[in-house]
Amino acid sequence: MQKKQFKTESKKLLDMMIHSIYTHKEIFLRELISNASDAIDKRYFHSLKEGGTTGISKGDFEITLSVDKEARTLTVADNGCGMSAEELENNLGTIAKSGSYDFKKNNDQGEEIDIIGQFGVGFYSAFMVADKITVVTKNEAGECHKWESEGADGYKIGEAEKESIGTEVTLHLLADTDDEKYGDFLEEYRLKGLVKKYSDYIRHPIKMAVTSHKKKEDSEEFEEVTEIQTLNSMVPLWKKSASEVSEEEYNRFYSDKFFDYEAPCRVITQNSEGTATFTALMFIPSHAPYNYYSKDYEKGLELYSSGVMIMERCADLLPDHFSFVRGLVDSSDLSLNISREMLQHDRQLKVIAKALEKKIKGELEKMLRTDREKYEKFFDAFGAQLKYGLYADWGAHKETLQDLILFPAAKAGKKLTLKEYTEAMPEAQKDIYYACGETVDKILMLPQVEAVLSKGYEVLCFTEDVDEFAVKMLGKYAEKEFKNVTADALDLGTEEEKSALEEKNKGAEALLTFMKESLDGAVSAVRFTAALKNHAVCLSSEGELSMEMEKVLSKMPGASSDMKASVVLEINHTHPIAEKLASLFATDTEALKKYTKILYAEARLIGGLSIENPAELSEMITSLMV
Ligand code: ADP
Ligand code: MG
Repeated sequence: MQKKQFKTESKKLLDMMIHSIYTHKEIFLRELISNASDAIDKRYFHSLKEGGTTGISKGDFEITLSVDKEARTLTVADNGCGMSAEELENNLGTIAKSGSYDFKKNNDQGEEIDIIGQFGVGFYSAFMVADKITVVTKNEAGECHKWESEGADGYKIGEAEKESIGTEVTLHLLADTDDEKYGDFLEEYRLKGLVKKYSDYIRHPIKMAVTSHKKKEDSEEFEEVTEIQTLNSMVPLWKKSASEVSEEEYNRFYSDKFFDYEAPCRVITQNSEGTATFTALMFIPSHAPYNYYSKDYEKGLELYSSGVMIMERCADLLPDHFSFVRGLVDSSDLSLNISREMLQHDRQLKVIAKALEKKIKGELEKMLRTDREKYEKFFDAFGAQLKYGLYADWGAHKETLQDLILFPAAKAGKKLTLKEYTEAMPEAQKDIYYACGETVDKILMLPQVEAVLSKGYEVLCFTEDVDEFAVKMLGKYAEKEFKNVTADALDLGTEEEKSALEEKNKGAEALLTFMKESLDGAVSAVRFTAALKNHAVCLSSEGELSMEMEKVLSKMPGASSDMKASVVLEINHTHPIAEKLASLFATDTEALKKYTKILYAEARLIGGLSIENPAELSEMITSLMV
């Protein structure tokens, strides 16, 4: 065999290749299998052109993996087009020369040829795991050659013997080091796993002898059985039309791929041509993964190019508010960078991501319309994420999300969308009412809620931290403002009622100021209200920050103590206590102080707040009893 140097700056390039292009050594197998698959496609293409003269029928094409543990070799063989001596020289002897790219260019007349190779570097990735590579190949003209290289030193080409047309690439694996067990690439489980991960949808069978222990017939003994297995599933489920695939098939695919024991709540398929050509198969899980609402959760879809996996979690394909979607996108017109591990330009990706977002939104809307029960289950799992989405980026996603959120409604006793709420509003009702609390039950007990309900108006119950922040970001829905029934001035009574109340507050100014001062700065005001029905007192807040928001903000790291809601003690003006207070103000201001403190404590308890000094409170109550 004649020894040759790699052409032009190849030595340097090869070194660079081996040490810096790829982040994962394991992808070498993906590259060799992709080359084998391309070679088969080329031979098939020739056979079509020449009327089947290459002597193989379509069903016989295959890629085989075999190992020799003693010799530490792994062989990837194919019965594809093979290479002539000249092709060996040009394609393997020249780094960054892609015979596949040329093939595609020369033959691409009209019909699309789906060939994977394009850069002419994939083959060399094998030097990341091997110190010697031998290629034995026989082309369709029957010429048979051997190419051998030990890396940067160059390569040798000579004549060889080989029975059938095709190529065998044999890697002599590097010795194991502390960091890297190259010998693992001789193990069945490892090879199987790599084929599944990267090459599952290569359209030709990838076969390997697999040994398993099977029970002997009519005996309790086991025997070792070796059989040839096809490791890849070949046909990408997403390339089939949705009507050909059963629900069961989709569910199985989902649970195998994403390790979820529960079937997905919805399967979304998308086929797009035009500005971006891609196929997507997406799933909405039925439950949130255990780490979903933590920073450990990584969003993203798998990305395939011509059936080969490029990225396991391509985050750019999904907006944060739909981060729960799992699945994959396959597109043959992505501009890959040389390692296939990244994309070169993200413009195409952006177009795809936009289309996916629109599709997901549409599917959620459809589910909301046609399968309410399922949607509510979905919403229990991922609704908080949609609400965070409303709040995020200064409300930029409100068009997408505002009609997808649900809130429990006090009167209806079920969850409503904002659309349903506003459409059911009586004509006299001007605003959208909501109240915050730990649970729906606790909210229903709030005095102000009772009062609003008694007017015949619905109240939305906000039980999650994010809720109030989300609607504050929304601002308005269908031209209606959101009003917190425990914080905002409610426009409930008639004009006369309102002015009567104003009179009453003015007339009692001295009393109310005295009460406010008795509470030592705990409240910013004490006033009579018409917003209560049966209850004597309640707390409300004034200004931008509600009490619930204060609670949420005070839990956040670095919370400042001036993030305080300004609290008002409200007294039901029709309640007998109102008169009692007025008479005490004239006769016994010491008793009035106690009454005020007790009423304030009551209001806190009703509002779900704790009281600072329970001992003092019980002392006061008891002193009024004896
Ligand atoms: P690429 O696949 O991007 O073209 P590679 O470095 O992986 O680059 O391969 C270089 C070229 O070598 C291929 O384009 C092809 O022409 C040739 N080649 C590699 N492996 C095979 C094979 N198994 N059978 C036939 N030709 C091959
Ligand atoms: Mg290649």
